[in-house]
Amino acid sequence: MNKKMEYEAVVGLEIHAELESQSKMFCACPVVDHTQAQPNSVVCPVCSGMPGVLPVVNQRAVDYALRVALALNCEIAPVSIFARKNYFYPDLPKGYQISQYEQPLAVNGMLTLLTRDGEKEIRIRRVHLEEDTGKLTHVQNNGKARSLINLNRAGVPLLEIVSEPDLRSAADVRAYASALRSILRYLGVNSGDMQKGVLRIEPNVSVRPVGSKEFLTRTEIKNLNSFRSLENSVAYEIARQTQLHREGQPVLQQTLGWDVEQGLTKPQRGKEEAHDYRYFPDPDLLPLVIDDGWIQRIADSLPELPDDKKKRFMERYGLPSYDAALLTSDREMADYFENCVSLFPHPKQVSNWVMGALLGLLNALGKSIDESPVNPENLARLLALVEEGVISGKIAKTVFDEM
Ligand code: ADP
Ligand code: MG
Ligand code: ZN
Repeated sequence: MNKKMEYEAVVGLEIHAELESQSKMFCACPVVDHTQAQPNSVVCPVCSGMPGVLPVVNQRAVDYALRVALALNCEIAPVSIFARKNYFYPDLPKGYQISQYEQPLAVNGMLTLLTRDGEKEIRIRRVHLEEDTGKLTHVQNNGKARSLINLNRAGVPLLEIVSEPDLRSAADVRAYASALRSILRYLGVNSGDMQKGVLRIEPNVSVRPVGSKEFLTRTEIKNLNSFRSLENSVAYEIARQTQLHREGQPVLQQTLGWDVEQGLTKPQRGKEEAHDYRYFPDPDLLPLVIDDGWIQRIADSLPELPDDKKKRFMERYGLPSYDAALLTSDREMADYFENCVSLFPHPKQVSNWVMGALLGLLNALGKSIDESPVNPENLARLLALVEEGVISGKIAKTVFDEM
């Protein structure tokens, strides 16, 4: 049929980020590392859904959500509403999840991406607050299938960040998700530790003939927790759907899972619609009112964000865009670089050493930059010795490895 037609990808992302505040969204239970804590050790009547209890909004979680919303250039709603999203699932003891629906915390944001084709602006549709669910683990016990429930995660503050369908390739998708992760880490609201499930990504994917402005039927890939799975599953879905269109076959609107081993997407269930959840305002929670003073306080507390830092690194230190992007992808790495340059004012040399020898070393040791055995002062002194001609660059590398 349309064998010669060229297709382009249309992708929008829903990202769920846990907010790593001290306590949960609506109760005083602490937020713990899910991979460390004893199962069901941080649970109370509120987050386990006992009848008659009352949720209370965690102000710090709202602060964190505002940081993200402002960093993404969103408009903050003066009043937003918590709603009940009703569904049954064993990890959801209340029978509903508290979320925001009709009146989310923030809308109309923007994230600027650097892609192979230059800068692209990705529109953010909405940013809203909700609570996480518990976690099920499926095991075999004496040959019988068993499901174990851990409610430590139930009620942990969760931020949902929804983009417009502005992404046009699997590489774009990865760049967007990675820029968002970097912002969350800069803001100190989320560790970005995807293996621990604190950041989960759901791409919505469709394709359309190049030049068309229409949106065709999309599929949604659930709960990806690595950039590799994200990029591979989106690339797979783009190819699969393009093929279907070329063959004149319909693309079904479906929720898909990504099978890492087989490298393909598989249908999970029919897609539910908003009306299936019977959303209604939670009668136990007042509208969330955010005044200008609150917004201003948060705005004043925001750190310099990756994109601004990158531009500053290029202007102030004369670094190429590649170096500046890499060094500022992580706040600690950017600080390390600046500390070192303040002592040894040759930015490009420092950049080469940080991106090369230092990152290589840290990778090999499995350490983060703030755990680096070589601190910025030591690296600066080493580079000064090379500069003064005391030792050669080659010897410096040996000395560095010793350090
Ligand atoms: P739902 O809440 O049912 O998943 P939304 O309409 O809120 O659906 O959209 C969710 C995500 O899907 C958004 O990120 C949006 O950009 C994206 N999206 C919507 N339509 C399409 C489409 N035709 N192709 C790809 N992505 C889409
Ligand atoms: Mg969705
Ligand atoms: Zn609790």
